[in-house]
Amino acid sequence: MPPFEPLTRRDALDAWRDFLPKVPSYTSTRNSVQPGHANVSRLGACIRFRTLLEDEVIRDTLERHAFGVAEKWLQEICWRRYWKGWLETRPSIWTRWRQRVRALGLELPAERLARAEAVAAGASGVACMDAMARELMETGYLHNHARMWWASFWIHVEQLPWELGADFFFRHLLDADPASNTLSWRWVAGLHTPGKSYVVRLSNIEKYAPHYLAGDSSGNERLADVSVGATVPENIDAFAVQPLLQTPSFSPPAMKNFGIWLHPDDLVPEIGPLAGLAPTSIAACFSESIYRETFQLSPRRIAGLKVVLRDALERAAAHFGCATLALKAEDPADALCSWAVENKLSEVVALAPMVGPVRDMLGSLERRLQAAGIRLTLLRRLSDATAFSFVSAGFFPFWQKMRRHLNEVYL
Ligand SMILES: Cc1cc2nc3c(=O)[nH]c(=O)nc-3n(C[C@H](O)[C@H](O)[C@H](O)COP(=O)(O)OP(=O)(O)OC[C@H]3O[C@@H](n4cnc5c(N)ncnc54)[C@H](O)[C@@H]3O)c2cc1C
Repeated sequence: MPPFEPLTRRDALDAWRDFLPKVPSYTSTRNSVQPGHANVSRLGACIRFRTLLEDEVIRDTLERHAFGVAEKWLQEICWRRYWKGWLETRPSIWTRWRQRVRALGLELPAERLARAEAVAAGASGVACMDAMARELMETGYLHNHARMWWASFWIHVEQLPWELGADFFFRHLLDADPASNTLSWRWVAGLHTPGKSYVVRLSNIEKYAPHYLAGDSSGNERLADVSVGATVPENIDAFAVQPLLQTPSFSPPAMKNFGIWLHPDDLVPEIGPLAGLAPTSIAACFSESIYRETFQLSPRRIAGLKVVLRDALERAAAHFGCATLALKAEDPADALCSWAVENKLSEVVALAPMVGPVRDMLGSLERRLQAAGIRLTLLRRLSDATAFSFVSAGFFPFWQKMRRHLNEVYL
C-alpha cells in the first residue's frame, strides 16, 4: 500500500479541499476501518507538523457546513489541542515516558523483550493485529480505531508495558505527536482516567473492520470477549501540574537584526504572529542523529520530517524574502546559536515549541543564546493560548468551552 498522507502545505490544502465536502458524513462513517481509509481525512501528519492549521480547518468547515452537522468533526480536530494543552501543564509525563522506554530496554526480561519485538514485527499470531502492525510499518498510518485496538491488544492481551508500545507507534506513525500518542496510550492503559481502560473486543473489530479478518481469523480466540480482562498497569502516577509556558503577547522584535527559527511543531510562519515580521535570516535545524539514535525513528518518519522542514523553508523564503538556511547538526542548540552569531542577530524569534523533542533542547538553546547576548522570544498563537486555557480536566468540559468560543469567533 503506498503512503498516502499529505505532508507539504500544497498537498495538505489539496487533500483538505477534497475532504471538506465529506465532513457531514464523517460522524456516521468515521468508525469504519476500510482499505485506503477514504472515510477519514488522513490529515494527521500535516496537522501535527502544522503545514495545515487547525484554525484553517475549523474556519473552512464552518464557512461550508452548519455547526450541528460538523460538530463531531470539529470535536476530533479539537481533541488534539486538548491533549496538547494537557501535556503542556504536565511535561514530566513526556520526560518520564522517554526515561521508561530507555530503562525498559535494559530491565525487561529477555523473553518479554523478545515477545514485544515479535508483536511489533507483526508476528503475534493474531492475524488481524499482525495486519495492523504491518500496515503501520508499511505506510506510517493507522486508523484511529486500529490504534485503539492494537494498543489495547498490546497492553491488555499481551500484557506488555504501554511505554514500549507507545514507542513503537512514535517511531512509525507519520503523525506521531508527543501529546496525542503518549496520552492516548495512557488512556488505553487506564492511566488517564484511573480505573477506566479501553478493552479491545473481537465483536467490535468484526463490526467495523471486517476486511482485517477476511480469510484469516487465526489467533482470534485470544480476543474472545470473555478472555480479555482490563489489566491496569501498576504505578498510577500523579504528575505535578505546572503553569503553562508564558509567552509575551505579540509585539514586533525591538531590534533590527533578528532571525526566525522554524521547527516542526509549527510550520506555517506565513500565517499568524510571525507573518508580518521582516527577519534578516530564517533557519531550521535537523538533527538526524537525535531522530535516528535517540528516538530510533523509522526511515519513513525521518524522510517525512525532512519533507516538512524543506517545504516550510521554501514557503518562508517566498513570504519573507530573506535568506533561509537548513542546518544539519548533531547538536541543534549549538548550530542555531552559531547561526545567530554568524548573522549578527540580536534576537531569535520562534513560535513556542510544545512539550516534546523540540522543547527538550530549549533550555540548552536559551543558555547558549543568552551567553552570546542574544535574546530568544517565543510567541504563541492566540488560538492555542485560548484552547490551552480551557483544558482543566476531561475532554467534555473542555469541549463545552471550546464550542462556545468557536460559536463566538466563527458564527
Ligand atoms: C493509541 C493511540 C495513539 C495515537 N497517536 C496519535 C499521534 O501520535 N498523533 C496524532 O495526531 N493522533 C494520534 N492518535 C489520535 C488519532 O488516532 C489520530 O489523530 C487519527 O487517527 C489520525 O488520522 P486521520 O487524520 O485520518 O483522522 P481523522 O478522523 O480524519 O481526524 C482528523 C484530525 O483530527 C485529529 N484527531 C482525530 N482523532 C483524534 C484523537 N483521538 N486524538 C487527537 N487528535 C485527533 C487529528 O489531528 C486528525 O488528523 C492516537 C490515538 C490512539 C488511540
